[in-house]
Amino acid sequence: MTKLKYLDLRKAVIDTCLQMNEEGINQGTSGNVSVRTPEGFLMTASGIPYHKMKPEHVVEMDLDGGYTGEYLPSTEWRMHMDIFKHRPEAGAVVHTHSIYATALSCLRKDIPAFHYMIGIAGGTTLRCATYAEYGTQELSVAMLKAMKDRQACLLANHGQIAFGENLAKALWRAGEVETLSHQYWAALQAGKPVLLKEKQMTTVLARFKTYGKQPGELKKGDALSVTGPVRRDVPKRLAARKKVTKKA
Ligand code: 13P
Ligand code: ZN
Repeated sequence: MTKLKYLDLRKAVIDTCLQMNEEGINQGTSGNVSVRTPEGFLMTASGIPYHKMKPEHVVEMDLDGGYTGEYLPSTEWRMHMDIFKHRPEAGAVVHTHSIYATALSCLRKDIPAFHYMIGIAGGTTLRCATYAEYGTQELSVAMLKAMKDRQACLLANHGQIAFGENLAKALWRAGEVETLSHQYWAALQAGKPVLLKEKQMTTVLARFKTYGKQPGELKKGDALSVTGPVRRDVPKRLAARKKVTKKA
């Protein structure tokens, strides 16, 4: 048997699906996961339960709607392909029918800035795409529109979709969308949430650019998300440099 191309990446896609179910943000065979490759992307096959999914069930696709192998890709391959085509920053995509995001998607309303974490979707709202039937090009068009300047959106009467620079980031974002949906739902039960103002969200969004990054991950010119505390110990590399300077 010929060796499967992208074996490790296929396994990483399956791991992400299993994690998605373990975290409780998906159930059954709903939802799907993809990751970018140099030629296109890898897409979970349609209708196969994740605990039974093997590397050969992760389908290789190109960006013109073509696939390779015995298995049919997810019915939602169009949405995944269109994200990879139109959003060069996307490295992986996660689509789920998580409970609270799906419940709110049935109201067909955007989630407003009731909490600053709404910024994880890339803006001051988490939009809801207009309704279109699952697996259609129409759904993909609606999704892309709702995703303008965003990395996640709700899909009316269906669920949510999120992307990230890699599988871990896409899964993280889908999890955050579900948490935000749950929190918004809870706030609505208790009263009328006070929304953050556009200006308040502008500063949050600027700070989000480096949120969660450690000093080693910052690019030149990046500022820390918060004013950092004072580091008391001397970092090893600086201590080594000081020793050299002393000797000289
Ligand atoms: P697939 O099993 O074809 O991936 O479909 C699941 C789904 O979520 C459709 O919207
Ligand atoms: Zn779906």
